[in-house]
Amino acid sequence: MTKHFYLTAAIDYINGAPHLGHAYEKIGADALVRYKQLTGYQTWFVVGSDEHSINILTKAESLGRDPQDFCDEMARVFQDAFDRLSIGYSIYARTSSEANVKTAQHFLQKCYDNGYIYSGVYHGWYCPSCNRFYKQEELLPGNVCPEHKRPIDELDEPNYFFKLSQFQDRLLEHYERHPEFIQPESRRNEMINVIKGGLDDFSVSRSTVKWGIPVPFDPSQVIYVWFDALLDYVSGVGFADNRERWETFWPCDVHVIGKDITRFHAIYWPAMLMAAGEELPKRVFAHGFINLKGEKMSKSAGVLVDPLDLADQFGADAVRYTLLREVPFDRDGDFSMEAFQNRYNADLANDLGNLVNRTANMIKRYFGGAVPAAGDLEELDRDLLAAAEATVAAIDPLMEALDFSNALVAIWAFVGRANQYLERASPWLLARDPANRPRLETVLGTTAEAVRLIAYLVLPFMPATAARIASQLGFELRTEADWSRWGSLPAGSTIGAVEPLFPRIETAPV
Ligand SMILES: [Zn+2]
Repeated sequence: MTKHFYLTAAIDYINGAPHLGHAYEKIGADALVRYKQLTGYQTWFVVGSDEHSINILTKAESLGRDPQDFCDEMARVFQDAFDRLSIGYSIYARTSSEANVKTAQHFLQKCYDNGYIYSGVYHGWYCPSCNRFYKQEELLPGNVCPEHKRPIDELDEPNYFFKLSQFQDRLLEHYERHPEFIQPESRRNEMINVIKGGLDDFSVSRSTVKWGIPVPFDPSQVIYVWFDALLDYVSGVGFADNRERWETFWPCDVHVIGKDITRFHAIYWPAMLMAAGEELPKRVFAHGFINLKGEKMSKSAGVLVDPLDLADQFGADAVRYTLLREVPFDRDGDFSMEAFQNRYNADLANDLGNLVNRTANMIKRYFGGAVPAAGDLEELDRDLLAAAEATVAAIDPLMEALDFSNALVAIWAFVGRANQYLERASPWLLARDPANRPRLETVLGTTAEAVRLIAYLVLPFMPATAARIASQLGFELRTEADWSRWGSLPAGSTIGAVEPLFPRIETAPV
């Protein structure tokens, strides 16, 4: 039976250009999806744009643009960015798509029919940047939004409300029964406290705004932007236009999100699904934020790293590797150009690049480019084989936990072992005496096999690099086969063109 895996990354606000935070989240999500593919899953991977926010309307108006037209352009900008970072998404799902309009209306109607929607008047403090209402006591002095540090206004408007207050016990019960539902643990505890503190009903419509999806039972109002944004996860997998895909992949395996939107995903979203009578996602994973040299990224402070510039200059894989290696996914972390350069030179150019380069060159020099078969294994060879098997076993739970940083630590420990193996076995010394020919065959056959395995291990993180290693070693990347089995590299494979995978960076990148 085919295994299925459905992952979503957050649906982005597209009122500004994509930045390091977007890149980081999508790269992590993409690494997990590719790992699942590598381990036999059929996957569906949704990214997309959240277009009905007031922010987008304001931005478009300030540019004298039609909001839909502006969104069309920005959606292309985001897709182009994801392509340049090798994000292998299945669909770029836009909240303004016909499928999402139908889906959002269907769900709101369903919640209404099931008795979870009522009409009332909302009075509160609304931050257009957060797209949410605040209670006065949540604001900073001067009625300032705690997220955006800007004063916000009071709003009084007739709205439809969702009876979130009725879901307090059911949510806590769900958390209890599914301890993995919200990760990491710190976020789960935070959400439990929020729920125990009492949940207020929230407004699911706006009467003062025209930019949005009409409320099906009252077209004078539009659906609250968060309500239709969350439904992008449902419309993106075919709820309205591909029932087979929807039934195959729902419930979602992981929603990967930034920690700042945990409340919407951990509280509003499951309650909305319960109200509509649909199954809940299995997991919500809230990643941390990247600080640059200890500061929050900001254009005005000049603290900025442009992931697309870096990708264009050094390859998407170098950006993917360094980000996931440097910044643990479950918490805030630091990044800097120095960190990028150090990781690039030490881990990619030296450790991995040299291993592949030396292996391919020696097979060329000593065997005319035909990968030799390993003969009888000695203890040194068997140790490397054991390390390989241990590495494959170690990374599975790490990937499952979205602990990409430690998965890469484990893979690089094996890269280190392979380099050590070469030093100890010293094929360049063996090559001096024809009597050592069988041993030389075993050593380089074993090293080539280790490199083959490494190509597969790095594939989720660095897909282009995996393909380049395969072409240099003369084998085909075939993820449907049992790649993790030692000894799968056919003897006699022909070494392709050998070139450095990651030429060293000699000067500080700016
Ligand atoms: Zn705000």
